[in-house]
Amino acid sequence: LEQQFAQSQKMQAVGQLAGGIAHDLNNILTAVIGFSDLLLLNLRPNDPSFKDTMEIKQNANRAAGLVRQLLAFSRRQTLRLEVLEVSLLVDDLTVLFKRLIGDSISLSVDHEAELWAVRADHVQLEQVVINLVVNARDAMPDGGSVDIRTRNVTEAEAATFNYRGMPAADYVLIEVADTGTGMSQEVQDKIFEPFFTTKDIGKGTGLGLSTVYGIVKQTGGFIYADSELGRGTTFRIFLPKYAHVPREAADRAITQKARDL
Ligand code: ADP
Repeated sequence: LEQQFAQSQKMQAVGQLAGGIAHDLNNILTAVIGFSDLLLLNLRPNDPSFKDTMEIKQNANRAAGLVRQLLAFSRRQTLRLEVLEVSLLVDDLTVLFKRLIGDSISLSVDHEAELWAVRADHVQLEQVVINLVVNARDAMPDGGSVDIRTRNVTEAEAATFNYRGMPAADYVLIEVADTGTGMSQEVQDKIFEPFFTTKDIGKGTGLGLSTVYGIVKQTGGFIYADSELGRGTTFRIFLPKYAHVPREAADRAITQKARDL
């Protein structure tokens, strides 16, 4: 628990730092891109400077993409919670997923029919699943498959997973499994740390999974990775089942809270 606390403190500090830098950097990059555009307007495509200027603009755009990730990472602190169905959220992303993974990787999506609802931030939860799919893709340079599955896990079944730190309760489980490279134990131990990456410079920021971790934690959920080198990786996200509170009880709770204040 102490370790988890230290981790979340660290992430908060990094989040604030990243947010501050990202904001300033964003202004600078907007200027770089804007002035490149102005230059391009005055250059003919066959001008030798045209290509150079395009190069500047493209790289500034790439940097802006990184900055957006940094901003997303630092903004994860403020969640807008709503009751939602994870299956619908995933279905709405399948076109994007297919585009992301390309033709050499196959995608399968499977939902339990009567999936429970969860309370989560729609945009952030999308970010979570997208991050997992992108990582899965990166782990399969020679192709393979990504399988996304959602299902209900009852309190009794939750206990059988034996995941450390996860209390037995009703959850909606989101599984993202790939047939990629897998991870060594050393890598698995560090994947949720900010800035930990095994990818080449410019390819990975090491912020994907720490962002994912932060969002899942703030949603009251749990995330675990099971991985085997050479076989693949399965990420499991457990989000608490949304418990419908009868109107009268909710009203009573609100009245009580008002009295307490
Ligand atoms: P990034 O993707 O920018 O490297 P992440 O935080 O998303 O940052 O991931 C951290 C590291 O975890 C990756 O660099 C990779 O080594 C490892 N990783 C994450 N997902 C997978 C996966 N599905 N298969 C294998 N390794 C993975």
